[in-house]
Amino acid sequence: MFKKYDVIVAGAGHAGCEAAAAAANLGSSVLLITMNMGTIAQMSCNPAMGGVAKGQIVREVDALGGYSGIIADKTTIQFRMLNLSKGPAMWSPRAQNDRMRFAEEWRLALERTENLDMWQDTVTSLIVKNDTVCGVRTTLGVEIECNAVVLTNGTFLNGIIHIGEKRFGGGRTGEKSATGLTEQLVELGFEAGRMKTGTPPRIDGRSLNYSVMEEQWGDENPGRFSFTDVERPTEKRCCWITYTNNNVHETLKEGFEKSPMFTGRIKGLGPRYCPSIEDKINRFAERDRHQIFVEPEGFNTVEIYVNGFSTSLPEDVQYRALTQIPGFEKAKMFRPGYAIEYDYFPPTQLDLTLETKKIANLFLAGQINGTTGYEEAASQGLIAGINAHQKVHDLHELIMKRSESYIGVLIDDLVTKGTEEPYRMFTSRAEHRLLLRQDNADIRLSPIGHELGLISDERLDKVKQKVKNSDDIVSYTRTKSVDAAKLNPLLEELGTSTLNQNVKMFALLGRPQVAFDDLRKADASLEVLLSTYDKETVEQAEIKIKYESYFDKELEIVERMRKMEDKEINPEFNYHQLQSLSKEAREKLMRIKPRTLGQASRISGVSPSDISVLMVHISR
Ligand SMILES: Cc1cc2nc3c(=O)[nH]c(=O)nc-3n(C[C@H](O)[C@H](O)[C@H](O)COP(=O)(O)OP(=O)(O)OC[C@H]3O[C@@H](n4cnc5c(N)ncnc54)[C@H](O)[C@@H]3O)c2cc1C
Repeated sequence: MFKKYDVIVAGAGHAGCEAAAAAANLGSSVLLITMNMGTIAQMSCNPAMGGVAKGQIVREVDALGGYSGIIADKTTIQFRMLNLSKGPAMWSPRAQNDRMRFAEEWRLALERTENLDMWQDTVTSLIVKNDTVCGVRTTLGVEIECNAVVLTNGTFLNGIIHIGEKRFGGGRTGEKSATGLTEQLVELGFEAGRMKTGTPPRIDGRSLNYSVMEEQWGDENPGRFSFTDVERPTEKRCCWITYTNNNVHETLKEGFEKSPMFTGRIKGLGPRYCPSIEDKINRFAERDRHQIFVEPEGFNTVEIYVNGFSTSLPEDVQYRALTQIPGFEKAKMFRPGYAIEYDYFPPTQLDLTLETKKIANLFLAGQINGTTGYEEAASQGLIAGINAHQKVHDLHELIMKRSESYIGVLIDDLVTKGTEEPYRMFTSRAEHRLLLRQDNADIRLSPIGHELGLISDERLDKVKQKVKNSDDIVSYTRTKSVDAAKLNPLLEELGTSTLNQNVKMFALLGRPQVAFDDLRKADASLEVLLSTYDKETVEQAEIKIKYESYFDKELEIVERMRKMEDKEINPEFNYHQLQSLSKEAREKLMRIKPRTLGQASRISGVSPSDISVLMVHISR
C-alpha cells in the first residue's frame, strides 16, 4: 500500500508541518503521518504568532522558505509591532490569529505541496537497522519504509492532563496521547525527561461585559511576517485588557490544596516565563492584581482566550475566580484550563543539524526537544526537514550560525547547553542581536534559502533590489544637504538643536529626534525620492543611517569570533586522550561532540583553560 519514502515526518504540529513542506519542496518524497488530520497545525494554546524574539524567528523561517509567516499573515485578526519605542533590534512583530483559519490554511498549503502524502495514524515505533532508521510502525499495524524520519510529537508522548485532582492521558485536551516511541528510544539508549505546560480556560465571548475593560486595537498600518506579498484580511478584531484582584486571588487560593502543581503530582518543570495564575499569585504575593488579555479566537467564533490566566486548578475554582474579574461577572466557560506533562528528549543528544547522534537519519524537532512555542517549533521543523532531505540525497548539511540568525542561536543553545525547563527564545539569548533584526531577516537568510532551492530567483532578486534601493537612499542623504534656515522651525518643534549652517541629511538623520517622516515633509526632493520606494525599503535605509556605526562594531566582533567558530573539530575526536583537559570537560566534550572550537567554548563546564588546551592541540 505504501511506497518507500525519502522522509517520513511524524506529527503535523508547527514543527511537523514545516519539516514536511520543506523536505517535499526540496524534492524529497515525503509522508506526513499524524494522529488526527482534523488538528493539523493546531495552535494548542494562544491564538497568536510572534512576539519578542519569536517574531524575528517567524520572519527568519519565512526568509528561508518556510510557511509559518505566510500562514500567520493570511489569518491575522490583529497585528502589532512590539517595542517600537526601543531600537530596531528589539522591534518584534506579533499577530493575533484566527485559530481555525490558521489550521485550515496550513492544511491547504500542505495539500498543495507536490511530493507530499498524508496519512492519519499514530507512529508507535521506528524500524532501526545498523543504528540507522529505515521506517516506522503505526497503531494500524502498518510498516512504512523510508530513508529518514523526523519526529515532531509535541506534547503527546505519554502526555498526562491535569485539572485539579483529576488526571487522564492526552496529548492535548480531547486528544489521545502517543505511547511506544519514548519507550523504544530509551531502549535504544536515549535519555528522556518530563516537562509540563498549561493553558487558560476559554470563554463564551457573548457572556462578557467589554464596557468595563480597556480596548486594545492593533497597529493602524499593520506590518507583516512574510516578505512575500500575501493577501491579508482587511477586517480587524479588538482585544481587551482587564485585571485580577484580591477576591480573584483569594478564590484561587481555595483550590491550592487540590493543585497538581503545589501537591507535587506534576513532576515536570514548566515554562518559567509563562507561569500559571496560581504560580503568579504564589510567587508575587505582594501584587494585588495581574493583567488579563481578552483575546478573540477568530473572526467566526465567539470563543475567547483568557491570556494570563493559565491554570490547572479544579474547574469549579477556575470558574468562580473568573467571575470575579471585572467584565467576567456573567462569564460562561467553554473549556477549562489545564496543565499537561509530557516526555521530551534532552537536546544535547542531537547534532547541530537536529539529527540524533545515536541513530543515523533520525531527526527530532519542536517541543520534543524541550522547547516551548509555535515559533521555536516551526523553525526547528524547517531545519530538520531541510537536513533530512539533504542527508538522504547526499547533499551538504545546513547548520545555522549564531551570528546570522535566532534559529542558529536556538539550535546551538539546545544542542550545546541543553535545557532543563521549557526553552523559549529571548532577544537576550542572542549575543549579536543588533544584527539579527526582524527588518533584515530576508537580507540575512534569503540567499541561504535560495541556495537550497526553497527561495525562487525572483524572490532573491527582489531582496537584492531592496538592498540596492536602500543603499541608494543612504547615498543620497550623504550627498544632499538641507537648508538650515528652512529646516530650523521643524527642528525646534522636534525638540532638537537648530542648525547654524547647512548640513548633510545623513548627519541630521543621525539625531534620534529626526526621522525620515519629518524630513520628507520639509524637503520636497527627499519626498519625491522616498515616494518611489516601498515602506520596508525606506525603513531599511533609515535603520542603516541611524545605527550603521553600531552595526559595524558588531560585525567586527563577529569577525573576531569567527576565528573560533571556523576552527573545526573532528566530531569523533577522543577527548579522553587529552589528559590536560579537566575531567568534566573531557566528559562533556565526549557527550556533546562539538563541531567547532566556538561551540566547545559554550559548553558549560568547559573552561577557558580547557579551550586553550584544545586550541594548542588543533593547531598542531
Ligand atoms: C496545554 C498547552 C499549553 C501550552 N502553552 C504554551 C504557552 O503558553 N506558550 C507557548 O509558547 N507554548 C505553549 N504551548 C506549546 C505549544 O503548543 C507548542 O510549543 C507547539 O505547539 C509545539 O509544536 P510541535 O510541532 O512541536 O508540537 P505540537 O503542536 O504539539 O504537535 C504535535 C503533533 O504531532 C502529532 N503526534 C504526536 N505524536 C504522534 C505520533 N506518535 N504519531 C503521529 N502523530 C503524532 C499530534 O497529533 C500533533 O499534531 C502549549 C501547549 C499545550 C498543549
